[in-house]
Amino acid sequence: ALTAQWAEAWIRECSQVLTEHRTALIELDRAIGDADHGENMQRGFAAVVAKLDAGGQETPGAVFKLTAMTLMSTVGGAAGPLYGTAFLRAATALGDAAEIDPAAVVGFLTAARDGVVARGKAEPGDKTMIDAWTPAVEAAGTAQSAGASAVEVLEAAANAAQAGALATEPLIARKGRASYLGERSAGHRDPGAQSSALILQAAADTAG
Ligand code: ADP
Ligand code: MG
Ligand code: MG
Repeated sequence: ALTAQWAEAWIRECSQVLTEHRTALIELDRAIGDADHGENMQRGFAAVVAKLDAGGQETPGAVFKLTAMTLMSTVGGAAGPLYGTAFLRAATALGDAAEIDPAAVVGFLTAARDGVVARGKAEPGDKTMIDAWTPAVEAAGTAQSAGASAVEVLEAAANAAQAGALATEPLIARKGRASYLGERSAGHRDPGAQSSALILQAAADTAG
């Protein structure tokens, strides 16, 4: 089962991976937005790591709550409140549980996705991060029902999220800044869907 140590390792890996992909995310956002998504994500997760370095988070829920609060206060733009809400709902779903079993993985991923929907009102196909999160949640549920371990559930989610991010390329954006471009948003991958896929891949990689 997954512990607070894993949750912290996941968030630290997010910071590293988002730093590595900073330029790529900026380029995706340059095409259909304002070229700041890589910067926003790197700065936000670096701020979370600085808070984690101070210690004191004894459950996965506490790690996710700290992550949520820090992302909300340090990341400007659309993504900060959306990811903040995702991690806050994940924290609430987990409560003060010390360990996360496969069903709880599905539970916190579902809560996170539902939080993004509640906050941003995007539907599948609107070319947003929801197009990574929704297939991830569905794949996680399918894997868990088939008896997968927590790591396998996260791997299924990560693979589906990356496929979902790729599948945003032909879509016309109907939410967020990219929607201002209308049909000209087609032919480009959604930056938030790509960062979501990176974040979920980091979850699987640190659980293994
Ligand atoms: P901003 O657009 O304010 O500069 P970012 O560039 O950091 O913010 O984040 C943009 C990403 O946020 C988009 O690629 C998209 O995935 C996501 N996004 C924007 N609006 C919504 C929404 N209403 N629902 C879900 N995701 C959204
Ligand atoms: Mg932007
Ligand atoms: Mg911006």
